[in-house]
Amino acid sequence: MASETVRAPAPVEPNGACNWRCPEHSERLAELFCRRCGRCVCALCPVLGAHRGHPVGLAQEEAASVQKLIQDCSECLVTKKRQHADNIAHLEDTGERLQAYADSSKAWLTQKFTELRLLLDEEEVLAKKFIDKNTELTLQVYREQAESCRKQIEVMDDFSTRVWVISLEPNPIQLLQAYIATKSEMEQHMSPLELSHPVPLSFEPVKNFFKTFVEAIRDTLQTPMDTRLKQNINYQLSGSSSSKPGTLLKMSPSPERSLFLKCKTQEWEREGGWVGEEQKWRRDRK
Ligand SMILES: [Zn+2]
Ligand SMILES: [Zn+2]
Repeated sequence: MASETVRAPAPVEPNGACNWRCPEHSERLAELFCRRCGRCVCALCPVLGAHRGHPVGLAQEEAASVQKLIQDCSECLVTKKRQHADNIAHLEDTGERLQAYADSSKAWLTQKFTELRLLLDEEEVLAKKFIDKNTELTLQVYREQAESCRKQIEVMDDFSTRVWVISLEPNPIQLLQAYIATKSEMEQHMSPLELSHPVPLSFEPVKNFFKTFVEAIRDTLQTPMDTRLKQNINYQLSGSSSSKPGTLLKMSPSPERSLFLKCKTQEWEREGGWVGEEQKWRRDRK
C-alpha cells in the first residue's frame, strides 16, 4: 500500500483534444475555463457573452493545475492510507501485548486466590483446633470431677457399712466407744454436700468472630467491582487504569505532537511497556 506510487499525469495535448465548442458560440472553440461557473467557454464569452467579467483561465493551464491538484490529492491519499496501516499495526501490536498482560494478570489472580484459600483453610483448621483444645481441657476437668465423685461414693459406702456395723453393737459401752472414734467423720458426712454444676463452655465468641468476618467479606463483595476498584486508593493513583477500556489517544499529525507521542511511547516502552505496567502495579500492591 505504502509502496503504491502516484501515477504521473499525462501531458495535456496542445491540439486535437481541445475540439470542444463553446455552448454559447458554437462556431468558436472553448479554449477558456470560467472559474466562477466551472465551464469551458470561448474567448468571446468573458468579453461579450454570459461570462462577462467572470474570472477565466486558459483551459489547457487550468487542466494542468487540476492535474497537479489530483496528484497532490493522490499523494495525500497514499500518506493517509499508510497512516491507517500504521494505526492498524500499532493497534494489533498493542492488542497482542494487552492480551499477554491480561493472561499474566489472570495468572497472578489465580496465585493470589490460591493464597487466600490456603489462608482461609488454615484459619478454619486453627478455629476448629481451638474448639477441640478447649473441649478436651474442659472434658478432662469434668472427668476428673466425676472420678472424684465416684471416689467419694466409695468412701461413703465404706463408711455406711462401718456405721451400720456399729449400730448392731449390742454392748452400749462398745457402741459408744466406736461412735466416739467415728464421731468427727460422721459429722463430716452429715454436713450438706456442695453440688457442683459445670459452667457451660461457650464457643459463641469464636462463632461470632467468624460470623462478623464472613458478613464483612460478603458486604464488601456485594458492592459492584467497578465501585470497589474506584474506592481503592491504589486504583486512583495509577492514572492509566482510570481510562475506559479501549480509550484511544487521538492526535492530529502535527510534527510537534507526533514527536511528543513518539517520545512518550518510547519512554513507556523503555519502562517496560505492559510488563512495566504490571511490575508497577505489583509494586503498588505490596
Ligand atoms: Zn463563447
Ligand atoms: Zn462564467
